[in-house]
Amino acid sequence: MADERPNVLLFPFMAEGHIIPFLALAHHIEQKGYTVTFVNTPRNIKKLHQSLRPPPSSSIKLVEIPFNCADHGLPPEAENTNSGPYELFIRLIEATPALELPFRKLLSDLIETGEKPLCVVSDFFFGWAAEVAHEFGIFHSIFSGSSAFGMACCYSLRLNLPHRHTDNVEFSLPDFPEAGKVHVTQLPFPMLVAGENDPMTKFQRKNLPKWSSSDAFIFNTVEDLDRSGLSFFRRKLRIPVWPIGPLLLSRRDTGREETSSLEKCIEWLDKREPKSVLYISFGSQNTISASQMMNLAKTLDASSRGFIWVVRPPLETDINAEFAAEKWLPAGFTQRVHDEERGLIISTWAPQVEILAHESVAAFMSHCGWNSLLESLKNGVPLIGWPVAAEQFYNAKLLVEEVGVCVEVARGTKVEVREEDITEKIELVMGESEKGKRIRRRTAEVKEMIEAAMRDEGDYKASSVKAMQEFFAAAAKSCCC
Ligand code: UDP
Repeated sequence: MADERPNVLLFPFMAEGHIIPFLALAHHIEQKGYTVTFVNTPRNIKKLHQSLRPPPSSSIKLVEIPFNCADHGLPPEAENTNSGPYELFIRLIEATPALELPFRKLLSDLIETGEKPLCVVSDFFFGWAAEVAHEFGIFHSIFSGSSAFGMACCYSLRLNLPHRHTDNVEFSLPDFPEAGKVHVTQLPFPMLVAGENDPMTKFQRKNLPKWSSSDAFIFNTVEDLDRSGLSFFRRKLRIPVWPIGPLLLSRRDTGREETSSLEKCIEWLDKREPKSVLYISFGSQNTISASQMMNLAKTLDASSRGFIWVVRPPLETDINAEFAAEKWLPAGFTQRVHDEERGLIISTWAPQVEILAHESVAAFMSHCGWNSLLESLKNGVPLIGWPVAAEQFYNAKLLVEEVGVCVEVARGTKVEVREEDITEKIELVMGESEKGKRIRRRTAEVKEMIEAAMRDEGDYKASSVKAMQEFFAAAAKSCCC
């Protein structure tokens, strides 16, 4: 019997950092009684078939769209950019308009076989997708797995390049004054030096104006946490902007099944005092420089605080290379912290969600990727921010200046980070100062706020639940018109 449930077509950009939040969205939509068509390029679909455990249910169908890296002078592995060099990432983005034709054909085929989707939800890099969906009378929304505040800063910076019109190191965003002052150290390096000739800026100056052709924009965020960024897009795009988060990823969603480090971590954390451990991670694709890594290690060596540190090879080395502790960390560091049971060093994939949920964890030193921040706040863990790229600078800005749950320890991979500065920030967030206590109290409030956003009790629907309902209602209405 044909499946009568309405179908939502999801189409992320081909990178793990984009595919993972779309997968979380797929599971969320499935639980609401819809089926999902999850579209991506052949290599990514194959990878998803292999990695998802349990395999995708009948409610989530994985569908390939043709794309040949060689046609764009790219190596085959460029098709999923979680570990490739930045230049490949840019060239892949520049190749994405080539997906328009096969995407149009896919929609046409689905309609021919009676499988017209209720709506298309696509990546923010695919500005052209709204027009294609509309050609077939299909409702279209963009989805961002990042914060509205971070995206708003990026949107305004790319279109205005405000730093080109001032000699000051700090400046306001002309159409987003609520964001406060942006410092030049918070700009992506190529944008800072090349301005309108930076390839990403060139791409976005064509892509961003197309966003207002969409029917809606959904964000993996929470209204009360991310108010100014959401207001920016409501004002700017004049389309409904719905915060539907937090959609958090379980290991099932990502297909990451490594359990050895899970057991090891939990066993280690179980032996620690409540709220005593610092967790450190720079996310799935970022790392810091060799000298920064050395200074961070020296700080941890000199401190009595317990820690779990997810280390990756430093910049200028292959991020997927074997971790060479003897080369990149102080002599005897690994052995010492192990013998003294003071620290756990993980050089593979860490079970981050489970670590942050453990009662022994007191603070998270993070690169400020949005998923990491939501995971931390959902568990009431305050942050020590060390943003290194992209919108991470603005996520940190939001949490430091607007929300009050984070202190920034460093910015980027080019600055020297002194041991005493790292110690000061760690002690500020984990120690007994009044400011530290205030940050921890505020983090506990934000935890409540985030949990409250997903409350769905009878007639009471909290903001994110209502937003999702409004989204589906708008798609259904447009379908009937
Ligand atoms: N993550 C993890 N283990 C690791 C590194 C990352 O589980 O060793 C997960 C983390 O929980 C988060 C995601 O990978 O869900 C990283 O996303 P985020 O937006 O924080 O940063 P990105 O890696 O995209 O820069």
